[in-house]
Amino acid sequence: EIRFENVCKSYGKTEVVKNLNLTIKEGERLILLGPSGCGKSTTLRMIAGLEDITSGSLYMGDKRVNELPSGKRNVGMVFQNYALYPHMNVIQNITYGLKVQKFPKDEINLRTDAALGMLQLKGYENRLPKDLSGGQRQRVALARAVVKQSDYFLLDEPLSNLDAQLRVSARKELVKIHELYKQTFVYVTHDQVEAMTVGDRIALMYQGHLQMVDTPENVYNRPANIFTAKFIGSPP
Ligand code: ATP
Ligand code: MG
Repeated sequence: EIRFENVCKSYGKTEVVKNLNLTIKEGERLILLGPSGCGKSTTLRMIAGLEDITSGSLYMGDKRVNELPSGKRNVGMVFQNYALYPHMNVIQNITYGLKVQKFPKDEINLRTDAALGMLQLKGYENRLPKDLSGGQRQRVALARAVVKQSDYFLLDEPLSNLDAQLRVSARKELVKIHELYKQTFVYVTHDQVEAMTVGDRIALMYQGHLQMVDTPENVYNRPANIFTAKFIGSPP
């Protein structure tokens, strides 16, 4: 599990995550939902070890990880801006992490082939990121995280650049990946429909404050406050 205890995050004097208490259960798909600027990416990046925690504690498993470097956290992450290596082609981008970790060649090929198929990237193996569309880049970023099969899978708006049709199929693929590897998913989106269809539970944030954490059904039918009701579009 991942557990935030009284976690605050400030940039300079501005507090952007405010006293966060949240437990993400082992193996669940938790959606972090909320409007632009509410603190979703910052929260995800704290889990990944890419942002210092200003105060409070973050636990992964039973270990306090505030000081644990990113490379030791067993996380795979899909970044909002993809963060592909510009000088590497699609295959090199996808396999780089596995090579660094010295996985056997056969295993690398097996995982890569599965990811290329799943994300409809066959035929693009040798392209550089600059020669791909936004949606294709996004799928390469997804593939790169998928092949790691890490315990924690952190996704920051992973489908935002896909057209409606691809997005629907990609959602299903992500749920399949989850069922296959039983990873803990922390999935950031500002899309309510995505949250409702992908999430076991939804954590709704607004201006750095957690508003409600519950199943999609309860968030929709029993919103904890007016913000939640309005954001989700609950029936009055
Ligand atoms: P979006 O949906 O637009 O991606 P978000 O919920 O992911 O938004 P964050 O990226 O977590 O939002 O940002 C939360 C707040 O922190 C914003 O007001 C943002 O301007 C601010 N912020 C983020 N990164 C930094 C930084 N490096 N320095 C200063 N302020 C930052
Ligand atoms: Mg963001």
